[in-house]
Amino acid sequence: MNRCPICGELANKDNVHLIPWFLIKDCITEGGSGIRDKELSFTIDSSRPTQLYAGRSVLPEKLEDLGNLNLLPREEKNPYSRDKIICSYCEKNLSRLEAIFASEFGVKKIDAMAGRGQRVGQSEVLTSSKYNASIFELLIQSIFYRCSIGRFDGFSLPAKIENKIQTNLSKCFNEVDIENLKPEDTVPLIHRFPIIATLFNPYKGGDPTINFIRLNKSRFPFFLISGKWTFQLFEKESHIKSCIEYMHGLLLGLKPADAYKASVDKSHIFLLDKELSSKIHADIVKSGSLSKINALKKNIREVHNRIFNFKADEYIQNYIFSRYFRHLDVGKSEFDSLVHAFYDLKKLP
Ligand SMILES: [Zn+2]
Repeated sequence: MNRCPICGELANKDNVHLIPWFLIKDCITEGGSGIRDKELSFTIDSSRPTQLYAGRSVLPEKLEDLGNLNLLPREEKNPYSRDKIICSYCEKNLSRLEAIFASEFGVKKIDAMAGRGQRVGQSEVLTSSKYNASIFELLIQSIFYRCSIGRFDGFSLPAKIENKIQTNLSKCFNEVDIENLKPEDTVPLIHRFPIIATLFNPYKGGDPTINFIRLNKSRFPFFLISGKWTFQLFEKESHIKSCIEYMHGLLLGLKPADAYKASVDKSHIFLLDKELSSKIHADIVKSGSLSKINALKKNIREVHNRIFNFKADEYIQNYIFSRYFRHLDVGKSEFDSLVHAFYDLKKLP
């Protein structure tokens, strides 16, 4: 068994979430229910055949509803978790950091703060005086770190940055009683990175199917979209001013330099206004479609071959393809869009 890179003990923990569960649960569970073991997702990856992942508690009826798609090979592991990359002690500490974030920036607290913050670009900055910025920063650093060591979607941080975050986590878990950590406490941070956190609006309710999890392959900044949240992590302060990463339009609606100035050394959220939120969502759908076209065409051919036992001709392939985007455009999740695209095929005369 490998050693935990944070503390050196045996890396014995199974099912370590790369991104905290509360950030992804609406995106990857049946009907956005957020219930554990009800995960339902396809892996759409150009390098592997399409597989279906269904959590233990997804009912057989739901799977039968999927018709022939139910025959797809099963992904055995949740694509958003990894086994044995860290130890259970460090995982528990990370969960404590997550719980503090989820409580300090939970819906009730945001409700109380919204409308009172300073306007910055097309957003309002909400800061919490009770929630110490060092704990906030360490959590966000840890998310990028976990995605990197778990190679989520092929993502990796440069070794230099990964090591710095690892040092922060080691020192902190070694010196601080994390289990009893309170939001107002300070934790040691040897290495700091500018961070900008944003939240889409509406931040509660709304359409549960407009949910995406993406780690862009950009470095200036590293950029993660997870459900209603986005996180930017900059390697250096000097990169903020020269940032040209479009980030689906976030760059224009909330300039990183302005955002950093308004949030430095504070635990914060930029609550994006509704117009900017829907612009960004529309851009994700559009750009997602472009970069995924080839992977998707290959997947459609494979799925079709598996279900019908013969290769889809060009016409059928394009038909499924167009129906997929039609469903995606009206706000269905990636998963449901593919399912419905195949349903549509059955309706053809
Ligand atoms: Zn450990």
